[in-house]
Amino acid sequence: MNVLVINCGSSSLKYQLINSESEAVLAKGLCERIGIDGVLTYQKAGLDKEVTEAAMPTHKEAIKLVLDALVNDKTGAIASLEEVGAVGHRIVHGGEKFASSAVITDEMLATVEECNELAPLHNPANLIGINACKDLMPGVPMVGVFDTAFHQTMPEKAYLYGLPHEYYEKYGVRRYGFHGTSHSFVSKHMADFLGMDINNSKIIVAHLGNGSSISAVLNGKCVDTSMGLTPLEGLPMGTRSGDIDPAIMEFIAKKEDLDIAGVMNVLNKKSGVLGISKVSSDFRDLEDGMAEGNKLCEAAIEVFSYKVAKYIGSYVAAMNGVDAIAFTAGVGENAPIVREKVMGYLGYLGIAVDAEANSKRGKDLVISTPDSKVKVCIIPTNEELAIARETVALV
Ligand code: AMP
Repeated sequence: MNVLVINCGSSSLKYQLINSESEAVLAKGLCERIGIDGVLTYQKAGLDKEVTEAAMPTHKEAIKLVLDALVNDKTGAIASLEEVGAVGHRIVHGGEKFASSAVITDEMLATVEECNELAPLHNPANLIGINACKDLMPGVPMVGVFDTAFHQTMPEKAYLYGLPHEYYEKYGVRRYGFHGTSHSFVSKHMADFLGMDINNSKIIVAHLGNGSSISAVLNGKCVDTSMGLTPLEGLPMGTRSGDIDPAIMEFIAKKEDLDIAGVMNVLNKKSGVLGISKVSSDFRDLEDGMAEGNKLCEAAIEVFSYKVAKYIGSYVAAMNGVDAIAFTAGVGENAPIVREKVMGYLGYLGIAVDAEANSKRGKDLVISTPDSKVKVCIIPTNEELAIARETVALV
């Protein structure tokens, strides 16, 4: 079966058409500047990328352009839309309502809408994409795959904040966690790759990208994760602060004459490694800066790596041990310097690094030495494939 995987943002949409038997990507691309003007990128497997400017007043026109490109006479990946057996949609927040992926029905969508206030920037965009697909592809089964679902197995002690309990009761204020599709895919895949029994395993997944989160996965189930009510908590990220003393918010608001929205903007968009380095949110730029002797770029990489190591240490405590650690996502897969620095803090776990293996990037690889007490791996994430698999399993 061919599965169309759709990941809708507020003004963009990423897509992949995946054949579920071979797991090959038949075509992929993205729509950008939806609601502004519109740019479609389309790439059939084996061919060059095509970039076209095309009006996209709403997500519906964007999806129509994607479907047209998929069946285009010259570079289409399929002959007709009948060859799309199902659509899998990424949905950011399923609150406590969804502990797994779900077939999309009117009732299911109403429940997703109830979670909108927990992710006001993301969930409404996800819903717009789903509704546009329903209009354009009536009768094609669709599945929603939630970023939060994998983390729903966390115990109460991991998800409750030290806040008045009534905020949890009335408003659902608790830790939810994100990147769940990636944490689930990578933990399972690493267990397969290492020949481990996932039902008897202690795994830590470090998803380090522009957004970063870490999770503790005990016997295949998430028991803790670093992101919280929103994706702002946890590690310092590309532009997000991660954990800070909450009192800093009032302090900065007064000093800089900012309201709450202004402070949130700083914490979401101007902080993290961009804020520390004053140079970039991109680790490639930070590495270049460090090589040129820029001390703030070096500080940004040090702060990030130290915090990753501290989270890993706390999850070893949460699980009373660890068998294997996975590095994944843009930074985790591609930045040997970050992995080296993180593992430099973990010698007490009996971790020994294979420097030659750690210099590689971007493929399934063990980067610890054969006698290391904990296996450490690079495991490239593949959220689209994970969504396609979930979709096939449900339809
Ligand atoms: P993601 O959010 O998983 O797509 O990760 C994107 C981030 O990965 C970028 O912002 C960079 O910081 C980082 N990244 C990507 N490629 C490299 C690379 N070759 N070396 C270092 N960092 C990289």
